[in-house]
This record gives sequence, structure tokens and C-alpha cells, in this order.
Amino acid sequence: MGGQNIILCHLPGMGVTNAASAAENLRRSYTQIRLVLITGICGAIPYLPNHGHEEVILGDVIISDSLIKYDFGRKYPDKFERKNGKEEIIEPPNSEIRGLLGKLKTRRFKDNFEREAAGVLQALQAGKGNECYRYPGAKNDILFPAAYPHKAYQLESLTNCTCFKCTIASDKVCDGIRKKDCGALGCGERTMSVQRERLAQSNILPSIHIGKMASADTVMKSGKDRDELAREEDVIGFEMEGAGVWGRVPACVIIKGVCDYADSHKNKKWQRYASATAAAATMAFVKYWGSNTYR
Ligand SMILES: [Zn+2]
Ligand SMILES: [Zn+2]
Repeated sequence: MGGQNIILCHLPGMGVTNAASAAENLRRSYTQIRLVLITGICGAIPYLPNHGHEEVILGDVIISDSLIKYDFGRKYPDKFERKNGKEEIIEPPNSEIRGLLGKLKTRRFKDNFEREAAGVLQALQAGKGNECYRYPGAKNDILFPAAYPHKAYQLESLTNCTCFKCTIASDKVCDGIRKKDCGALGCGERTMSVQRERLAQSNILPSIHIGKMASADTVMKSGKDRDELAREEDVIGFEMEGAGVWGRVPACVIIKGVCDYADSHKNKKWQRYASATAAAATMAFVKYWGSNTYR
């Protein structure tokens, strides 16, 4: 592709350990590897506090220019299984990658990059049998306030609950409720959601955001902790594979599509579209990387 030799590697499962063993195998099998791109889906911060309150919507693409590992355990608004508070700053990418990402952050290159990625996405969506990668619709992109919990707002949803105590007033939410999607619980009422500017546009195209990715073997599921890490560490996305690959290969860039807002709410509608926007941005990125390197 684009005059580059590319190896595609499908991970056997999610998480840092799977990604780390894949990285080790790649490095052993292909000694000339110069760059590893990790693509897939991630969670995002809906408004980036240190980037002029930039709005991020589902299907946008997050690209890492740096990475932090965070290992707080599983995070829910009402339940912190905190293992330790240690955060580890990892080595920044090499100067070649830093230079390219710096260029792609400038308005002119970013606009072109987004246009090219959108073109690749459209071609991908038009492919036979690829209907599942189409935009799921603005009405399904629902953001709740960070403190608004994922709970049983409809009493019928409690019939399958394991504890029968997950009422609106109580603090705790059991696993049975946690695993249900917002529609079934009743938190999916639009009246409770945050109004988004970009969703009001007639033609919604994915934006690309470049910044610090947070990586851990656990899923970020708390709007409050999400916003805290965004504010304090300047994190712009959450994912689960980067920490396994970064540092094990000569260079690594994480390119992921936003499928949720890293809070407790659950909605599986966006995973395929987000994986497609990430794949499209990855193809566009390879082109820029190639022209940057061999010009
Ligand atoms: Zn329950
Ligand atoms: Zn919910």
C-alpha cells in the first residue's frame, strides 16, 4: 500500500497482554519493522479541557502522540476498585513520528488528512456487504452529564437484575444492571443528554484528534474519572492495547475510532462504524508517513 510493505496482524483478544505478545512475535518474525500502527476502537473525552474545549463525537478518530499507562483497576462512578495510583509516563515516539504528527496537527494538514480519511471511509462503506460500517445516526450518539449514572430508570428493567435493589435512589448498581444498555434501563432519554454542536450539522464527518492516549488493561467506565484524567494528564482517549506494544517496537502510533464516552453508559451501536473510521484514518496516515519518509 502506498509503496510500503505492510503486515496485518489480528490480535487474538483485547488487552495489553495480547498486544504485547503480538508485538514480540512481530519483532522476532520481521526484523525490519519501522512502525507499528494499532487500530481499533477507544473511549473518548467528549470535550477536551486543554484543547480549547474541542468537541469529540462518536466515530471521531484519536491518534496518539504520547501514551500514559494508568492502572487504577476497574472504574465505575459508584465503585472504585483501585489497585494503585501509579501512573507511568512512557517514552515519547521518535523524532520522525513526532515531526509527522506535529505537521498533521496544523490546520492545513489536518483538513487534508480528515478529507482523505473520509474518502477512504466512503469507499469502504460502499463495498459489498459493508452496510454495517455506515454512520449509525446522530440520534444514537448520546452523551450524558459526567455525574449522571447508568441505572435502572425503568422498573421493568429490574426484573432481570441479580440483586433487585438497583433502584434510582440507591448508590450501588449491580452487574446485572451495569451490563444492560441505556435503552433498556431508560437512561437513554434524550431529555437528560448533553446538546452537541457538531451533531446538529447536516453532514457529520469524523474529526481527527491528536494527543495523549491513556492505556490500561481495564476499561474506563467513569465520566468523573475520565474528566479528571483529561484535566490533569491531558489525556484525550482511553484504550487497552497501546501499553503492550509501545516500547517493544521501534515506533508505535495508536489510531482508534471513538465508540463510547468512557463512562458507565452502555451502547454497542458504534463499534463497527468506529472501527471503520479508524481503519480509514490508518490508511490515510500510512500515505502521509510514506511521503514524509521518502520524499
Ligand atoms: Zn441489581
Ligand atoms: Zn446508561
